[in-house]
Amino acid sequence: MLVKLQDKTILRSDPERFAGRVVLVAGAGSGIGRAAALAFGRQGAEVALVGRRVPELEAVAREIAETGGTAMVAPADVTDERAVEKTIGTVVEKFGRLDIAFNNAGITAYKPIEDLTTDDVDQVLATNVKGVWLLVKHEVIQMRKQGHGGSIINTSSVAATGGNVNLSIYAASKGALDAMVRAVALEIGRDGIRINNVSPGVIDTPMTSVLPPEAVTAIGAHTALGRIGQPDDIAGAVTWLSSPEASYVTGQSILVDGGYNIGGMR
Ligand code: NAD
Repeated sequence: MLVKLQDKTILRSDPERFAGRVVLVAGAGSGIGRAAALAFGRQGAEVALVGRRVPELEAVAREIAETGGTAMVAPADVTDERAVEKTIGTVVEKFGRLDIAFNNAGITAYKPIEDLTTDDVDQVLATNVKGVWLLVKHEVIQMRKQGHGGSIINTSSVAATGGNVNLSIYAASKGALDAMVRAVALEIGRDGIRINNVSPGVIDTPMTSVLPPEAVTAIGAHTALGRIGQPDDIAGAVTWLSSPEASYVTGQSILVDGGYNIGGMR
């Protein structure tokens, strides 16, 4: 069955697709993470909502319950190794296993290079690189222990492969994830664990709400599809990457950008 969610985005609502699967979504309280958590919930998964903001996570848990799904709130700051380890333990205690992880927590620092501070750099790298790496580390430990494979997806960005003004350290952090995913894929592939990145273009979320409306219009016009993305556009790619339909895909960073990064004449 298909469900029409937005003007242009159609996601499946097949409650059997992820039945019996336990999914962790980090950064689940808003934007892309929230959309992916709702999509997994509609498609039968048991969803663990990881993040720092408990009220937002609880609201997403309620939304999942309203559509007949199952969710738990598993608070953690992903930059803190003990918190990450503990929260994965809590998820396994409650749901019994971990099959899929969407490591999507991230922050940005939109400033010209001469205005970026070392504090900005430390925060962006701590969340976007160390935080994702910590999640991957402890998810791999858990999935290997279980012995039945798994799928891990991180959120990279179009900024990792294209060039964007004012995003130097953010672009560097996402480029690090593109390199990391190739290395880790080789380490865990023989255990049946796949790892990939989804690399969104500009998506309508709280992170991009700081952009002036004329910039959003210009970005939309620059894509091949003539619009910026919606969180559900990314959720569709994430659920596909998590599913057995993507069983031979690993070590990849998949652009989902409406054609934003296509070069050439416009
Ligand atoms: P968002 O700000 O709504 O989502 C980011 C989420 O990460 C928030 O819920 C936030 O609370 C959480 N988070 C941040 N730091 C955390 C930490 N230390 N511990 C736990 N949770 C933490 O914005 P979004 O656009 O949905 O961003 C999701 C991901 O998508 C990010 O990794 C972002 O870099 C990436 N991305 C976004 C766009 C875009 O255009 N919106 C484009 C490319 C990539």
